[in-house]
Amino acid sequence: MTDKPDLIYLDYAATTPVDPRVVATMSGLLELAGDFANPSAVHLAGRRSSAHVANAAEQLAALLHVQPDRLIWTSGATESNNLAIIGAARARQHRGQHLITMPTEHKAVTDVFRALERQGFDVTWLLPDERGALDIDALEAAFRDDTQLVSIMHVNNETGLIQDIARIGESCRRRDVLFHVDAAQSVGKLPIDLGQLPVDLASMTAHKLYGPKGIGGLYIADRSGCHIEPLMFGGGQQRRLRPGTLAVHLIAGFGRAAEIAGTSLVEDLEHLTSLRDQLWAGICDVPGVRLNGDIDNSFPGILNASVADIEGESLLLALEPLCVATGSACNSQNQEPSYVLRALGRSDAEVQSAIRFSFGRQTRHEDIVVAIRRYRSAVSKLRDLAPVLAA
Ligand SMILES: *Cc1c(COP(=O)(O)O)cnc(C)c1O
Repeated sequence: MTDKPDLIYLDYAATTPVDPRVVATMSGLLELAGDFANPSAVHLAGRRSSAHVANAAEQLAALLHVQPDRLIWTSGATESNNLAIIGAARARQHRGQHLITMPTEHKAVTDVFRALERQGFDVTWLLPDERGALDIDALEAAFRDDTQLVSIMHVNNETGLIQDIARIGESCRRRDVLFHVDAAQSVGKLPIDLGQLPVDLASMTAHKLYGPKGIGGLYIADRSGCHIEPLMFGGGQQRRLRPGTLAVHLIAGFGRAAEIAGTSLVEDLEHLTSLRDQLWAGICDVPGVRLNGDIDNSFPGILNASVADIEGESLLLALEPLCVATGSACNSQNQEPSYVLRALGRSDAEVQSAIRFSFGRQTRHEDIVVAIRRYRSAVSKLRDLAPVLAA
């Protein structure tokens, strides 16, 4: 953060800054001098806009190893999750009403399933192990004759834990159950070959991979039985699955961000791994520190740790100018302790003191040095203030 020396931004899992190359792409698509026209229009200007949309679909499709016509543009991963889960549940409800997910999913999945429960669907919530992973035998045991959909995320947004989506997908395919993956934290960050993986529906969002906020995607596999109902009705855009005028500048920005992610993915992963290892080496010996998740099976851009006898909000404030998260960004508004860490069996105190550090392309080793120093001094300062608790 060279332009804001007072802040050290370590919250890339909540959102990323937009890459300047993405900004350049987008800014050419807004004004009269640029390709601003409605891509549904048949005139020359419309066809030019439409070419940018087609190009972006090619760029995102190349990153995911799928055909461009399998992608639907949405407003973000929240909408993609809603469209995939509700759309699939409704398309298949004549066959059965049983659905399977986990309580450690993002709110944009758990709250969708809760809404479906209120509408009469029957949802099985599979508990994770203490690191957050799904037990494949528990999934096998949960299948019923009327099961229609399984939704499991790829990378957990709070802990970074990676679920084995290949194995989960194989179990689903054997039973002709649709498999949806919330891939908001993994697209553009881990190699994903959706052309090979047994995944039917995958949600993603541009603002987690250095693209703009307000644009996302939904991948729908080209497979018989993989069909969803739309949630919105309007123009005929996007095969009527998600109508509305396409946001050409946002779509082109997403495409460019996907293209950049494809070329820098390996380098990014190496950089993130060295930052994560540096941070963990610098704080793991602090008395009472415990890692949340599984460092050997995680996306390296996220490190989540709890510390005994310390309260998270005070820790967060004592850590300033580090910008880190307690629980997940989506929960901090209502100050709810993390339901994800609770589901991992963490004690109230551990959940309360959990801090999520998340890094990105622009994070430097110097930033981690400051983060380690701040964390160590914040913990000892708070312990000095409350010696009775620490004793
Ligand atoms: C960020 C995130 C979302 C929500 O994405 P939006 O584009 O902000 O709607 C959903 N799921 C996961 C796992 C996320 O990390």
